Amino acid sequence: MNSIGGTIAAISTPPGKGGVAIIRVSGEGAFEIAKKVFRPADNKDFSDIKPRYAKYGYIVRDGETLDDVLLTKFPSPNSFTGEDTVEIACHGGILLTKTVLELLFTEGARAAEAGEFTRRAFINGKLSLTDAEAIGALLEAKSEAQIKLSSETSRTRLGQRLSAIRESLVKVLGSVFARIDYPDEDLGDFSDGELLGLLYNIKEDILSLKATYKTGKAVSEGIKTAVVGKPNVGKSTIYNLLLGEDAAIVTDIPGTTRDLLKASVSLGSVMLNLADTAGLRGEVLDAVEEIGIKKTEKILSECELLFAVFDISRPFDKEDEELIRLLEQAGGAKIAILNKSDSTAKFGKEKLPNIFNDIITASAKNKDDELIVALSTSVEHLFIDGEIKLGEDAVISTARQSAALLRGGEMLNQAISSLEAGFAQDAASGDLERALGAISELDGRAVNEEVVNDIFSRFCVGK
Ligand code: GDP
Repeated sequence: MNSIGGTIAAISTPPGKGGVAIIRVSGEGAFEIAKKVFRPADNKDFSDIKPRYAKYGYIVRDGETLDDVLLTKFPSPNSFTGEDTVEIACHGGILLTKTVLELLFTEGARAAEAGEFTRRAFINGKLSLTDAEAIGALLEAKSEAQIKLSSETSRTRLGQRLSAIRESLVKVLGSVFARIDYPDEDLGDFSDGELLGLLYNIKEDILSLKATYKTGKAVSEGIKTAVVGKPNVGKSTIYNLLLGEDAAIVTDIPGTTRDLLKASVSLGSVMLNLADTAGLRGEVLDAVEEIGIKKTEKILSECELLFAVFDISRPFDKEDEELIRLLEQAGGAKIAILNKSDSTAKFGKEKLPNIFNDIITASAKNKDDELIVALSTSVEHLFIDGEIKLGEDAVISTARQSAALLRGGEMLNQAISSLEAGFAQDAASGDLERALGAISELDGRAVNEEVVNDIFSRFCVGK
């Protein structure tokens, strides 16, 4: 994605037949190009079309009317991209929209690349990188909680919190540099004690924002999860229960073998990335000897959440013990499911060691969703910070954002340590600059080109 210049055009609605399709044109030549293909129904001049009001008219090619459409002009800077933009709402035929688009290309527009409209909005200062990421997430949202997480309010709050952190750092750096540049004139605003106090506050802000990643990740990126247990305990039944009505959103990662199939499903507000579904279907832990302890251990160690299933209708046996032994070494959260509570219980919670975050006794075959309700309560309790109001509070939701905050916090820590060790303020200036750099990277004020490319490459054409 290097083609920054030119006027771009794309169909912004999904491909296929629909009632209406929207074609977007953005760039310096947008109005000139649109003027050549559009004739207002009242025959007024193109320049007389009132900005941001839909104008009825016709798409004309070589004097022939192709379609009647609504056209809206958005003069720079008051458009999504910040550039002159035109949106044409035409009838949603596959060939028709393509023909209109090609007409725009003939008149001088070029095909927009994936995410190029949003990228231009970023370049023109219409959105920050965190906004762009949130919009990307909104387009991909599969759960109510994900929509809330990327909401306008939440985005604005995040922007405000980042600005506040950056402003504090700029103020602190200004004072430190004034001391360095004019050592004799005592131009610094803050004494060493005051400076330390400010840095503690900024660090607190960074840490509390970083702490929201646990929730953001659970809602947005998802928790790597596996359902484990000996054969016939009900793993497949639970797996199907989890897929339930969400089955339609199962994502098979293309090009992978059946062994590596993955599925993302929402459980309450949390997204579960069900790992190694071949395993989940009962093959992985069916016989530890068969597939080898190594692979089992790998799955257990990679997962952030494990549902360990036991069948209470059969006596607790060696295989259950073996699973527990493996679970004792595994990291991540563990929820034990004592399944088949509809049958006479041969054992209960007393058999389980104190390694589980929760123990749920239920029947996966029960049609009332009691197990799903219990699991979602338990998982939300483990992964969602109850203090956070989703859709209102600022929440960071990508590993990139979390890493930038981590780096900012570390740099700040180093600055604090050197001040606490009695060094002069100028000794902390480098670390403070790097802390500011990390925060600026987060919302894209200073960011590596590759990171920007990576973010926008996730968008579709027309966005
Ligand atoms: P897996 O081998 O661990 O994947 O187990 P399955 O999900 O294939 O289930 C094994 C058997 O147990 C099947 O016959 C299921 O119908 C049955 N089963 C699963 N859950 C329950 C339950 O809650 N109660 C009872 N009675 N049977 C269950």
